[in-house]
Amino acid sequence: VSRLSADAWRRLQPFLEHVRLSGGQQLYQTGDVMRHVLFIDHGVISLVVSTVAGHTTEVAMIGRGGVLAVPSLWPISTAPCDVVVSFPGDGHRVRADLMRGECSRDISIQPALLADAHDVMRQMAQAVICHRYHTAAQRLCRWLLSISDRVPTSTIPVTHEALGHMIGADRRRVSLVATMLQDDGCIRQHRGQIKILNRLDLARRACDCYRTAT
Ligand SMILES: [Zn+2]
Repeated sequence: VSRLSADAWRRLQPFLEHVRLSGGQQLYQTGDVMRHVLFIDHGVISLVVSTVAGHTTEVAMIGRGGVLAVPSLWPISTAPCDVVVSFPGDGHRVRADLMRGECSRDISIQPALLADAHDVMRQMAQAVICHRYHTAAQRLCRWLLSISDRVPTSTIPVTHEALGHMIGADRRRVSLVATMLQDDGCIRQHRGQIKILNRLDLARRACDCYRTAT
């Protein structure tokens, strides 16, 4: 995490375990006990909430340099929502109990983790208003831009179904919007991938949450 000091990193080194993050992998289900703090080196993970009926929506994403730190910050360490890998990559994890020990030894660590948690909470707050007031087309454009800002490529591996889970829309609606964006030259779709061709046009179509929350 860029916010941690070099000293803090050095002390954490012996406890860090490399983890691969596969696209679509579910890291936690809501209610799972979170036994590790996860630092993201590459790729993106998404925090996703769902209804009993199975409707889902992403409420925050964490990319390179970010950390999923819930178990080291609060005494309650169950996952508040699902956590899935929305863009493959890798990272490092450290056992939550060891991390808590380091937090009490080095008082600079917890503020750094809280700054990341604040960023996630800000995204969650924005997601509430986004899903209430903005259209599926606006949300889809925002999501593509937000994830592409966090990865070193303009090609995003995502199916219409997965994209629907992220933006809270059914697959048919996602297909309609994606086809329209492709016809207008904003994106190109190919075999479960979406390539961004015109960022400026996509940004013009995205809701203002893109500028507010990223
Ligand atoms: Zn929005």
